[in-house]
Amino acid sequence: MVAEAFKTLADPERRRHYDAVGVVVPMGDGSATFGFEGFDFSVESVGGATASTFGDLFADVIHETVDGATDAPRPGADLHVTAPISFDESMHGTVGTVTLVRRDACGACAGSGTMSVAESLCPACRGAGTIRSARGHMVFAKPCGRCGGVGRQRRAACAACGGGGFAARNEVIPVRIPAGIADGDRIRVPAMGHAGTRGGAAGDLYVTVQVAPHPHFRRDGDDLHLIVPVAVHEAALGARFEIPSVDGPVRLRVPPGAQTGQRLRLRERGMPSRRDGQRGDLVVELRIVLPAVLDERTKSLLRAYGELNTDDVRAELWRDTPLP
Ligand SMILES: [Zn+2]
Ligand SMILES: [Zn+2]
Repeated sequence: MVAEAFKTLADPERRRHYDAVGVVVPMGDGSATFGFEGFDFSVESVGGATASTFGDLFADVIHETVDGATDAPRPGADLHVTAPISFDESMHGTVGTVTLVRRDACGACAGSGTMSVAESLCPACRGAGTIRSARGHMVFAKPCGRCGGVGRQRRAACAACGGGGFAARNEVIPVRIPAGIADGDRIRVPAMGHAGTRGGAAGDLYVTVQVAPHPHFRRDGDDLHLIVPVAVHEAALGARFEIPSVDGPVRLRVPPGAQTGQRLRLRERGMPSRRDGQRGDLVVELRIVLPAVLDERTKSLLRAYGELNTDDVRAELWRDTPLP
């Protein structure tokens, strides 16, 4: 993994490859591991471009000032990782670990990218103190950026990090996922992104939670929705039976004359709020189910029912739309 990181550091084509995909390894005790791969080196400095147009030429002439600006501390890039969790973990919360490789300050040079050396000629200007460049008819001489025009150096690029000031570092970062977290919610872990440049603050790590859908409960805010089938006679006469909830079986009372689509609300049987733990509701939607009628006895009972109940169930349809 570390070798992989160095490869990424070295190859600019791969720098833009970031955004990680997490993998959960359940640990059986309510904790989980989120694997991670990918890097965000998107704040790497640009520069070193070859001048070919006037605009570029101008940019090159003022490069000295730009160089000076890049010496200022700059914050590190944020890291993003996706953590898939189960519905149950979103309900009760969990502690997972994000395993990743981040860009840390180089330990050998404390992030400065340079080390003290015996005084020697500046390798950039070979002791001249100036850099000359020709563009068509114009010749530019500018002070050497490497040595500041002195022609000699007392510091050289850090041998450990090659002057970048960074080292790839494996991290196992615990992440607490609060109860009630919803799909797409983001958790910020401060200062666990990439290290800043020249003492700049480290970026943050953002963990986006991906909650697996539940086969029966659908979440809406902190409420949970459940479709409950009811038999014809239960809907007509009313019934009491048990339905599943996130707290285990709970008793539901269906009032007589219940209709398909009717909603019943069970207070505080939903998800806990991520903010204050206050529970949402379980919203039950009734769906009247008519099983296949195969036996003669049931058929004759239903015929008798039809003879007793002659009201047109479609009357509502025609109220504002008279027949021609
Ligand atoms: Zn170093
Ligand atoms: Zn120099």
